[in-house]
Amino acid sequence: MILIESEVVRQMTSHCMKDRPFEACGLLSGKGGRCETIWPMINVEKSPYSFAISDEAIEKAMAQMKERGEALTGIYHSHPTALPYPSKEDQRHNGYPTVAYFIVSLQGREPVVRCFQVTPSKVQPIKIIQT
Ligand SMILES: [Zn+2]
Repeated sequence: MILIESEVVRQMTSHCMKDRPFEACGLLSGKGGRCETIWPMINVEKSPYSFAISDEAIEKAMAQMKERGEALTGIYHSHPTALPYPSKEDQRHNGYPTVAYFIVSLQGREPVVRCFQVTPSKVQPIKIIQT
């Protein structure tokens, strides 16, 4: 399971809705493995079907996390028209297999947030607990 603050979930879903029709993406950080701070990133691919974050943006965010005494605990992106499940591409391109992998689906009337552990060989659901 993963602990995430309700306010972070709210900001994550609103970022994803704002960036439609493109996929939105970002990082999450916190202490003790929790998701307490959101770092919205720019999807440099500007695509409805994929996302990528520049190395510079990641390094900058990671440095700021460190200053706050936090560590990277999650990564998120949206699926504007697809189910909240990692695609084969997501699985292949996930550079952070040790942190929680959130997907926000905007396919239905309301945003749906799911979380997984994603490695090249496996996708395993993680229970989300909002605090
Ligand atoms: Zn995806």
